[in-house]
Amino acid sequence: MSYIERNGDELYVEGISCRQLAADYGTPLFAYSRASIEAAWKSFDAALGAALGAGSKSHLICYAMKANSNLAIINMLARLGSGFDIVSGGELQRVRAGGGDMAKVVFSGVGKSRSEMAMALEAGIRCFNIESTAEVEVLAEVAAAHGVVAPVSVRVNPDVDAMTHPYISTGLRDNKFGISVEQAEAAYRCIADKASLKAIGMDCHIGSQLTDISPYRSALQRLLLLCDKLEQQGINLHHLDLGGGQGIRYKDETTLDLNDWAQAMTDEIGTRELEIIVEPGRSIVGNAGVLLTQVNYLKHSDDKNFAVVDAAMNDLIRPALYSAWQDIVPVRQSSTQTRLYDVVGPVCESADFLGKDRQLGLTSGDLLAVLSAGAYAFCMSSNYNSRPRAAEVMVDGTNAYLIREREQIESLFASEKLLPA
Ligand SMILES: *Cc1c(COP(=O)(O)O)cnc(C)c1O
Repeated sequence: MSYIERNGDELYVEGISCRQLAADYGTPLFAYSRASIEAAWKSFDAALGAALGAGSKSHLICYAMKANSNLAIINMLARLGSGFDIVSGGELQRVRAGGGDMAKVVFSGVGKSRSEMAMALEAGIRCFNIESTAEVEVLAEVAAAHGVVAPVSVRVNPDVDAMTHPYISTGLRDNKFGISVEQAEAAYRCIADKASLKAIGMDCHIGSQLTDISPYRSALQRLLLLCDKLEQQGINLHHLDLGGGQGIRYKDETTLDLNDWAQAMTDEIGTRELEIIVEPGRSIVGNAGVLLTQVNYLKHSDDKNFAVVDAAMNDLIRPALYSAWQDIVPVRQSSTQTRLYDVVGPVCESADFLGKDRQLGLTSGDLLAVLSAGAYAFCMSSNYNSRPRAAEVMVDGTNAYLIREREQIESLFASEKLLPA
C-alpha cells in the first residue's frame, strides 16, 4: 500500500494533491502521510510480536527521533505506545512536549553532558546507552549527586561492516561509537562496582540504511556471546537493544523483510530471557514524506541543463552530505519535451543540488516533489544563506494540518545583538 502516489496526472499524499498542498501552504514544503508513518510503526510492532510469539518475552520500539523530531510525529507515535531513542537534552524536552512516556526513553550518544544526564535522571528515563568508560564515571557521579541509581546499557561496537555509506556506518572498530566487545566486559564489571549505576541492558547500532539481515545477525551473535559471559559472572541483563538502521527504498534497493529480520533476531536470542528493544528511525518516517518545490528558472547551456528550484541544500542536505539519491518527480505530469537536468537550489555552493542528471519535462513555475523526504530531511535543515526553514504539513486522509509554520525571516536574527556604539 502506497500513501504517496499518482492519481491520473496528479501526485497525491493520501487524499490531497500535492498541487493543492503547495497552493495552500507555499513552497518549499514538507508534506507527510500520517497513515504511512503509523503503518510503518505498526509493521515493526507486528513483526516483533509475531517473532516473539505468545511467550513471556516482550519488546519495545523506541523511535529514533533524530530522523524526524516534529512534535506532531512524536505525539502520533506516543499515542501508539512508542518509546523514543534520544540523543540530546533537546530531544528529551521534545518527547515531553509531544506527550511521550519518559519510562520508554533510551538515551544514546557519545557526548552526553552532565546537565543532560541530570535532566534525564530527573525525568526518570528507562535507560542510558553508555558509549565509553569515561561516561560510566561521569554518570556514576551525577547519579550519586542526585541520590538515584541510573539504569544503564553499554553500547557495544561489534566491529561488523554494515556495508553502507561510510558516514552512516557506525559499527566498525574505528567509528567513534560504542565500546569494543573486549572493553565492554570490563565496563560492565566497573558498572557493577558502582552503587549509583545498575546495568540493565546491552545495545548496539551498526549503521543506517541497511538492506541485508546478515550484519544484524553477526552483530547480535557477538553481543549474545558477551551476555552469556556476563551471566557467568553474575551480571544478568534485562534487555537487548538492537538499534535501528533498517533501510528504505529510495531508488531500487531491495529492503529487508521485517518479519524475516525479526525472526532471525529472535532465533539467535533463543531461550534467553531478554526483552528486545529496537530503535528504528528512517524506516518509520523516510518514505512517508515529500519535499515540494517550485521550479523558478530553467537554465540551458551547451552541455548542461539546470532547473533552479526554491528548495536548497539547507532544506535537504542528504544529496550534498552523503551523495544520497532521492527520486524527483513532477507534481503534475506534463507533455513538455524532457531533457537531462541537474535540479539545484539558490544557495551559493556547488554542492547545492537535490538531484543530478534527471530526465524531466519542465516549464518554469512547475512543481516538483522530492520523494522519500520524511527522514533526515527537515530535521537536518539549516538557515544557511539566511533562508527561513520550510513549513511542514501532516496529511491525514483528506485533511491537512500545518505542524510547523514556515519560519519568519525576523526570527533568523532575533537573538543577535549589535555591538555598542
Ligand atoms: C540514528 C540512530 C538510530 C536510527 O537509525 P535509522 O537508520 O534511522 O533507523 C538508532 N539508534 C541510534 C543509536 C542512532 O544513532
